[in-house]
Amino acid sequence: MEQRLQSILQERFGKDLDSAADQEVYTALMLLTKERMAAMPKTEGKRKLYYVSAEFLIGKLLSNNLINLGLFDEAKELLARHGRELSVIEEAELEPSLGNGGLGRLAACFLDSIATLGLCGDGAGLNYHEGLFYQKLENKKQKEEKNPWITPESWLTDTGARFTVPFGGFSLQSVMYDIGVPGYNGQCNQLHLFDVETVDESIIGEGIGFDKRDIAHNLTLFLYPDDSDEAGRLLRVYQQYFLVSSTAQLILKELKERGYGIQDLHEHVAVQINDTHPTMIIPELIRLLALEGMSMDDAIREVSLTCAYTNHTILAEALEKWPMDFMRRAVPQLVPIIEELDRRAKQRSGDPRVAILDDQDRVHMAHIDIHYGYSVNGVAALHTEILKTSELRPFYELYPEKFNNKTNGITFRRWLLHCDQPLAAYLEELIGPGFKKDAAELEKLLAYQDDQQVLDALRRIKRQNKEQAAAFLQKTQGITLNTDSIFDIQVKRLHEYKRQQMNALYAIYKYLEIKAGKIPARPVTMIFGAKAAPAYTIAKDIIHLILCLSQLIESDPEVSPHLKVVMVENYNVTKAEKLIPACDISEQISLASKEASGTGNMKFMLNGALTLGTRDGANVEIEQLVGPENIYTFGKSSEEVIRLYDQGAYHAADLYDGDPEIARLVDFIIDKKMIRIGDVESLCRLYKEIVGKDWFMTLLDVKEYIAVKEKMLADYEDERAWSRKALVNIAKAGFFSSDRTIAEYNRDIWHL
Ligand SMILES: *Cc1c(COP(=O)(O)O)cnc(C)c1O
Repeated sequence: MEQRLQSILQERFGKDLDSAADQEVYTALMLLTKERMAAMPKTEGKRKLYYVSAEFLIGKLLSNNLINLGLFDEAKELLARHGRELSVIEEAELEPSLGNGGLGRLAACFLDSIATLGLCGDGAGLNYHEGLFYQKLENKKQKEEKNPWITPESWLTDTGARFTVPFGGFSLQSVMYDIGVPGYNGQCNQLHLFDVETVDESIIGEGIGFDKRDIAHNLTLFLYPDDSDEAGRLLRVYQQYFLVSSTAQLILKELKERGYGIQDLHEHVAVQINDTHPTMIIPELIRLLALEGMSMDDAIREVSLTCAYTNHTILAEALEKWPMDFMRRAVPQLVPIIEELDRRAKQRSGDPRVAILDDQDRVHMAHIDIHYGYSVNGVAALHTEILKTSELRPFYELYPEKFNNKTNGITFRRWLLHCDQPLAAYLEELIGPGFKKDAAELEKLLAYQDDQQVLDALRRIKRQNKEQAAAFLQKTQGITLNTDSIFDIQVKRLHEYKRQQMNALYAIYKYLEIKAGKIPARPVTMIFGAKAAPAYTIAKDIIHLILCLSQLIESDPEVSPHLKVVMVENYNVTKAEKLIPACDISEQISLASKEASGTGNMKFMLNGALTLGTRDGANVEIEQLVGPENIYTFGKSSEEVIRLYDQGAYHAADLYDGDPEIARLVDFIIDKKMIRIGDVESLCRLYKEIVGKDWFMTLLDVKEYIAVKEKMLADYEDERAWSRKALVNIAKAGFFSSDRTIAEYNRDIWHL
């Protein structure tokens, strides 16, 4: 490796490992890794999977790819011999912000596992030049900026493949870039990212503003352009069609190159539709097959046996419904096909709840997927049950055989071997290296649950990780953390259903307690990290509330020694990798029934944090695995919550009026201390939202939440019992390896 690295440095920069800058060493290592990946065998199989997704939140790739190629230790030692550190070198890498949250990270974990299991399957997505957005925290508010990540030398390789994508009135040329996805000791698959040649970053004005109608120049600038106006919504339709038309053309091209005809499509191709964004691949494939002469009946049958759909949410506002008028403007060629699909669906069932076109002339994207896909899966056991019994019940009655559950997972390469190297090394010492290939072997750790030495070592590693995370926050945001304190972390997208506002009410509670003289046994550090969608006002108000509390507490010498509230700027995969290993308390407090699965919960568990959570999503499965004594749950059940919604029986104002303790916390949002440092309008709006509506029922669970959190903080003082719980969590995390999830997808859906 050294020789090749030196010669790349020489050729490119005229330098060697001792004289090159970090950025140059990074580039050389990246190029070397790309060479190694290019030399790896491609996976082959009778049936090939295309995992189509609007998002791939892949994170930085250098270390991860080195680990998967088995080169990590060699690279680290080589650099060390020249007085350099890999962890410093990789800071030169920019994180591609090609995703938004859990759904995009899931797609990235899945690609890793597909390659690791040696399955024949590639990803297909879009090459957003500015990603989602970069979050700046300024004046206690979120500010969005562009987030460029593509450098002249990057992981992207232009494949030379080009497709023409027709839109109403014009067409665009699509360019296919690839990013290699090496499996762990495995083969190399690809993530295909489509781009438009004419994209122009110079049209971006202030912040992330640009002309939303200038499709040729804006198509691949941003993931999820602001859809609060019509032009923004229409742009999303253009993006979605660009993705699926490029992917569909690639599929048919590769099918033919592999020596098969279009009549063999479903035997040789599987398409996994990740949430509804790529739904138009169904009518697009039908259109392309029909263009090649296949009858409509055959094309529909063939495509229906090829496509499978993953549902990620039961939030009504997240289930896409596009006006048919958008289709007429952006993709008129799909209109007759969608109408035909709708006609056939209506023949099959007259129930308006399962119609593709509704009486307002809107297309229900998920309904296309369910009628014309062969599999519909939820992402955790509870979520799939809710789909069957409530959200998608009429569909389940029509097609019970299509429904199945695939509980999400995470890749342990990134979320243990890479992000928590001290823990991984210690586990290897204890139970051998087998867990790296077979996550279920982590259970061997259970043999040590009463071994004081092991429990002490786990505590030491946690302490070391807290120091690392503290140093990182010091360096990046100038924040000083007390590493003797309990690290209580909630990092995830900002959404009312995830209830960061409930956690903020806890901060208020604790602040008032300390002001009243009730000093906690140990200081608590509450860490938040969350981006809010640019047009989601209340989410931004919650960020403002958190930042106001942070300042209020920081500037109060009575409180600040015991409580600290911090918000990490621009939460992303890189930050997750630093924070998760340092966590004591993992906040998973969504309103029961609303978090389909969660994957953050799995990452924290694997890294020895204890979960404080509702019985929602995969938290339910965590509880089953570790037992109720090793997790802290609270809150109303999903059945109860669903009943409250069905009967319209939840009234936040009743809880507020009837309980002075609740009122005291909520009122503090607009206390004069807060108004003095914050934006009145924003704080008042949030206050009114919580008292007047509270759609995600914060006040329903807040008191039990506070009580259980207090219990948890008290329990932390019993070091031995706490570490034992942490050990059980690590030992039982094997189930949440995405290798297990992908093996199930393959066994039940893909049959590659
Ligand atoms: C894992 C992950 C998520 C998903 O977190 P949840 O708590 O499951 O919502 C979001 N963003 C990033 C950067 C992640 O790594």
